[in-house]
Amino acid sequence: MENRIPLSYDKPWSSLPRNEPFLENPALEERIFTLCQHHGIQGVHFIKTSQIVVARWVRLKCRYGCDHYNTNWCCPPATVTVREAREILREYKTALLLSGEVDHPHFYQNNSKKRRRQVQFWKGTVAIERELFLLGYHKAFGLTSESCALCKKCTYPENCLFPKEKRPSVESFSIDIFQTLQHIGKETKLAQNTGDHFKHYSIILLE
Ligand code: SF4
Repeated sequence: MENRIPLSYDKPWSSLPRNEPFLENPALEERIFTLCQHHGIQGVHFIKTSQIVVARWVRLKCRYGCDHYNTNWCCPPATVTVREAREILREYKTALLLSGEVDHPHFYQNNSKKRRRQVQFWKGTVAIERELFLLGYHKAFGLTSESCALCKKCTYPENCLFPKEKRPSVESFSIDIFQTLQHIGKETKLAQNTGDHFKHYSIILLE
């Protein structure tokens, strides 16, 4: 499509000086950048889907040890199988990796502050996906960070209350985010204490 954004790989958005546009059309770049700012998204990386690692062990972690399993529309088993995830990723060549960071101690607790941040980042991913769709990326599809927290308690297995916002999580696609980050040369460190910076990631499959 005519207004499609040309991609510039391997340039983390957050590290770009704002006078060095990485989109051909600065007006389009500004629209995406504004959405990122509004939703607390601090980094945007263009990546190739061949750099995304899908691994079966991620599904094991969902099934054993996570209380969102079988309780949320955006988590397994309501989402795709590992095989389907691999097949879907093969239909795309490029993606955006969005990252955010929080440094307050609430992120490991199940409370409203954590939920507010989750919802902000979630809505940002969906809003940018929508914007990209309008900009010509008709296949754009977001994989969000963590399980959906738009409702205080997910209605699963009853009908979702916000189906237009519903997206599978990165983890539910069995994506090994650690190895994926290594592939794109991005360092990450697991937050081990409540005072540590907590990083979270979502992915928008592009084309
Ligand atoms: S919008 Fe509500 S019902 Fe739908 S997946 Fe999210 S938490 Fe569950």
